[in-house]
Order: sequence, then C-alpha cells, then structure tokens
Amino acid sequence: MYEDSFSMSKKELKFNSKAIHGGQHPDKAYGAVMPPIYQTSTYAQSTPGGHKGYEYSRGANPTRTALENAVASLENGNFGMAFGSGMAAIDAVMKLLGPGDEVICTSDLYGGSYRLFKGVFEKFGVRFRFSDMTDMQELASQINRNTKLVWVETPTNPMMNIIDIKAVSKIAKEHELLLAVDNTFATPYLQRPLELGADIVMHSATKYLAGHSDVVVGALVVRDEKLAEQLYFIQKSSGGICGPMDSFLTLRGIKTLHVRMQRHCENGESIAKYLENHPKIDTIYWPGFEWHPNHEVAKNQMRGFGGMISFVPKGGSYESAIKIVEKFQLFTLAESLGGVESLVGHPASMSHGSIPKEEREKNGVVDALIRLSVGIEDVEDLIADLDQALK
Ligand SMILES: *Cc1c(COP(=O)(O)O)cnc(C)c1O
Repeated sequence: MYEDSFSMSKKELKFNSKAIHGGQHPDKAYGAVMPPIYQTSTYAQSTPGGHKGYEYSRGANPTRTALENAVASLENGNFGMAFGSGMAAIDAVMKLLGPGDEVICTSDLYGGSYRLFKGVFEKFGVRFRFSDMTDMQELASQINRNTKLVWVETPTNPMMNIIDIKAVSKIAKEHELLLAVDNTFATPYLQRPLELGADIVMHSATKYLAGHSDVVVGALVVRDEKLAEQLYFIQKSSGGICGPMDSFLTLRGIKTLHVRMQRHCENGESIAKYLENHPKIDTIYWPGFEWHPNHEVAKNQMRGFGGMISFVPKGGSYESAIKIVEKFQLFTLAESLGGVESLVGHPASMSHGSIPKEEREKNGVVDALIRLSVGIEDVEDLIADLDQALK
C-alpha cells in the first residue's frame, strides 16, 4: 500500500489536490519535486538482497512507482500498477483467469478489448459472454458456476451507453465475482468505480490521464491486498510494464487532469447542443442529454458528462461518413481520444474495424457513425470546423 508524504491522510485531500500531490513524495536523493526519470534497468546492491527497495526495473522502478501511486490515489484505491499500454493492463487482469473460466462483458466494447478476448484469451480456454448490462435480470441470467469476472466499460465506446456500476456490483457480489471497470472514458475526475463497488479499475492512460497524445500507457488500481499481490505477480512475470520515460510523461499529464477534464466537459456540452440542433444530424449520443436513455444513471454516478460524442448524419452511409471526416480541419482524423487536441474518428473503419460488421451493427456502430473526442481548444473554432465539415 502506498503512503503519502504529507501528514493529512490521502482520503482527506480533495480531488484537485490529489491530482497534484496524491501518492507523491519529493525525491529522496535531492528533493526533486517531480520524480526523476530513473532510466535504469538495475540497482546496485551492497550484499545479495541488500537494496533500497528496487532490484530490477521489470519488478519496480521509482518513476513507475510514482505514477502507480498517483493513479491509485486518484481512484481512491490502495494499489496501482502501470503497464506499457491499456491492452497490457487488460491482459494482466485476464491472466487472473484459467481455462474454463467465463467473463461477462459489456456488449458495446472497445474494439481492442474485443480482439484480445476473442482472438487471444479464447485460445486459452477462457470464454466471453456479452450483455448490454442495462437489464440486471438478463445479466444475472448469464451467470453460471464458471463465471469469474464481470468486465464493464462505461461510458461505452462509441455508443456512450452508461452502465450502472453500483447495480452491477451488487450482482457481482451476490455471486462472488470480480468486477472490473474500464474507466478510460470517464477518468477518476468524473467517476470512481472502486467507490461504487468495483474490485479493479483499468485505464488506457494513453487517453485522458496522460492527456497529451504522446504516450501509450495502461494502469490498474485495486483496494484488496491479495488481489494486488496477484496482479503484481502477473505484471512482473509477464513484463508488460510502463517504462520510466512514459511513466514521467503520464505523471506530468495527470497533474492537470482536473483542469483539462473541466474544459473537456464544457466544450463537450456546447458541441453536443450544437449538433442536437443541426438539421443534418439524425442521431447523437451523449449522456448529458436529459433524453439520453441512461441519463439518470449518468447523473448519479458521474460528476459531468465528458467530451466524447458520437453522431450519425441524416441519410449517412460508409462513404458519406468518410467524406465528412476527411473534411475536418481543426479536428484531426485519427485513432485515439482524450488528448488536449480534438480528434474525429470513423469507428466502423477505425477503432471498431476489428469487430465483425454484424456484431458491431447490433450495438449501433453503423457505417455512418462518427465519433468526436472534443479537445480543450476554443469551442467557437471547433463549432466552425464542424459547421464546414457538415456542409
Ligand atoms: C484505447 C482504449 C483501450 C486500450 O488502451 P491502449 O492504451 O491503446 O492499449 C482500452 N479501453 C478503452 C476504452 C480505450 O479507449
């Protein structure tokens, strides 16, 4: 369990202060305020085993520890682990399981998670069932003796469905299942799954946590010490760790998470409202609308509604959606999300290209769907860009 340098307990600090100080200490060597980039694979020992807590950087590295503590503090957990990517973090969670075990996951899932589950872990005998998780009875009906883990993504990508983490956690607890939540879209600024009953929080820190589109990093946070030991063992054994330079950059990004998220939410709201009134838009997905089917759940478990928005233009097709995304000038056409700059994506051909068309259309990821990651630029400039792209 990590410790904070200040005398106030970490539970007492409010979120914005935690973003800057949570789990952090001035460096022991020279008092450096930002943790140095310990670009080293190994550590001198005075006698075999005589070290200062670090032996070899696959097991632990001080810069990575600083990041792991920061994320654990923000999620109000006790133990953090940083990985070389979000996928490596998910991979570590799935390695808690063995052949014959079953996982129930959100049906509207990040494409890479779907690919990892179906393409890699099914080969090792882990089975995956999918549920939209809006109907708790339906979710309970999928549970059997082999079920071990529930994997939740909320808001979902790219459909922005909101899953009631507390309700799912109640069912998971009744059946003694682990509950893991991919908190990439919301970040701990908007929602903290451990406080709602989840056992594991996962992040693609590549996105909002790091926030500057300059690293690929993943993270896990848990409260339970036994579970933490198992995950540290997997992290060290499989080795999908985050390097010191990327740990440093992610930590640097986290220090402004609260300020960035506030602006992402404000800009997201302005753009969602602009699109809602746009004559060329058929459907728009954003949980902040009162008419969004899961708005009440979103209001209860999230502090704001974020900057991720998906929409379908009227009469849109695969080809017309591609034409529109090519026309953006300020929004960059790119994979990924959560950076300071605005991005636009075409899920059917990009992030969700690895999901069979039939499977993805069942969840609403139609050919004409366009996804925005609204950045923190001046919102007037972003709206002007949308305006010209939709003409
Ligand atoms: C990007 C993403 C991932 C995968 O993370 P990487 O850092 O790209 O490996 C997982 N879940 C969600 C929701 C994501 O957006």
